[in-house]
Amino acid sequence: MTARPGVAYLVGAGPGDPGLMTARSLELIAAADAIFYDRLIPPGALDGARRDAELVYVGKAPGKPSVPQGEIGERLVEAARAGKSVVRLKGGDPFVFGRGGEEGEALCEAGIEFEVVPGVTAGVAASAYAGIPVTHRDDASAVAFVTGHEDPEKDEAALDWQALARFPGTLVFYMGVKRLRDNAAALIDAGRDAGEPAAAVERGTMEGQRTVVATLGTLADAVERENVGAPALIVVGPVVGRRERLAWLERRPLHAKRVVVTRARAQASGLAATLRGLGAEVVELPAIRIEPRTEGDEVRRAVERIGAGEYALVCLTSPNGVRLLFEAMANAGLDARAFGTGPKLQQVERGGSDAGGEAQKRDSARPVQTGMTIAAIGPGTARALGEHGIVADVVPEKFVAEALVETLRSVDVSGKRVLVARAAEARDVLPDALRERGAEVDVVALYETLREAPSDDAIEAAQSADYVTFTSSSTVRNLTEALGDRFPTGARVVSIGPITSEAARGAGLEIAVEAERHDIDGLVAALVADATGP
Ligand code: SAH
Repeated sequence: MTARPGVAYLVGAGPGDPGLMTARSLELIAAADAIFYDRLIPPGALDGARRDAELVYVGKAPGKPSVPQGEIGERLVEAARAGKSVVRLKGGDPFVFGRGGEEGEALCEAGIEFEVVPGVTAGVAASAYAGIPVTHRDDASAVAFVTGHEDPEKDEAALDWQALARFPGTLVFYMGVKRLRDNAAALIDAGRDAGEPAAAVERGTMEGQRTVVATLGTLADAVERENVGAPALIVVGPVVGRRERLAWLERRPLHAKRVVVTRARAQASGLAATLRGLGAEVVELPAIRIEPRTEGDEVRRAVERIGAGEYALVCLTSPNGVRLLFEAMANAGLDARAFGTGPKLQQVERGGSDAGGEAQKRDSARPVQTGMTIAAIGPGTARALGEHGIVADVVPEKFVAEALVETLRSVDVSGKRVLVARAAEARDVLPDALRERGAEVDVVALYETLREAPSDDAIEAAQSADYVTFTSSSTVRNLTEALGDRFPTGARVVSIGPITSEAARGAGLEIAVEAERHDIDGLVAALVADATGP
């Protein structure tokens, strides 16, 4: 068991980049009965929580007093006493300016067992993302984490400015932006060199991170001029100068490029994550959503025929289709084994083959599967099948129906029953071609793509986009219709392939980039080439 009942866990969630959450934090979030969380936790940090977990926000809300510290302690105690496994999730590290110490003491006093899970603290992480090593062999053999914001209830400043001025190393100020001018003056008065390099790192590790570099004497002006807002960290020391060579974040291929992703939300995450990983600011502007249609008679009949082993060939045209077909099968008590029965087509070479119809290479060492032949339209669909334990027999290299038709040319489907499981509004290229070759084709619509109205916030954010990506013609049509004259005309349009491009041109858009490989990786590669091109 990863989270014990009656135990409270003080857990650090890291500085903001979800990728910097620890494995232990994710494990505890997934297992906890109750989670008490702050404002400064990474986006999506609670996505892995149990559906029935109690999620309680105890951070500050704008314009409202924050939940008093004593009350938070009491609520943790109460929840643990009720036998729950309790996670107290805090930004950064719980013991670094996080008041985790106080909460631990409250738990201790109440006799509640607790554990502490450290997090990546902003002082280290925001600096690292800014290309500032907090220690350096030549520049700093010590680092001090300092609060720039004294407890307002204290009468006098507890910070020893003399000592800090003399401190032989890097000074990292948390909560230091508001008082930056006073604090810098105090340091200089106490003898710290006004010319020492200093930086403010805003939104460290998060989307839109900014770093402002100046000197101790001029940083307050620079921060004011650049309008640096919370959360931000102040770093003082010669290590700031190392940023010139170590600033890696700004050098990522899509740094500061705003890219609109128009896929349905359920499919967008992979593309969005890849783009973010390359440094892009992603705006999700889904114009469609996937509406399953697995309840209908059509699907039921197809599932029965799978169960009865009637199909010689099953063609899947999207990962969604795979997911929904397996769902429909599961509802009928069937799993992947059902595909192992039924008439086998003549041997088909498994794996890629050229869409141009080049002679297929045969690998005699490869075992021949029994049961139905399974065709996937592209690598994404093949991967989805793989997750269900099915290795697709046929995957064309080009991700379009024509290529699948071509690849299936070597297969004799005449007189055979074939299933094409796909979206409701797909083109008929594949079923038509199979029928022409004498197959009896069941076309089953597993889902419909329905229009979804994008939010005003997302539309607003999209206005300054550098790129708009399209992965299907239906998203083109739906998005251009949904946005009308609010389509971001300044953005370069990136299309996954010729069919999508055609739809985009039909909608009056100019295609700036068309992927050479018609899948998500191909689209990303084409976008990166355009953004970094000569
Ligand atoms: N426990 C947290 C710190 C909480 S105090 C930790 O270990 O990181 C809050 C202060 O942390 C903010 O005022 C800011 O100075 C700093 N901070 C937190 N997240 C930050 C981020 N992503 N970028 C820059 N500074 C951040």
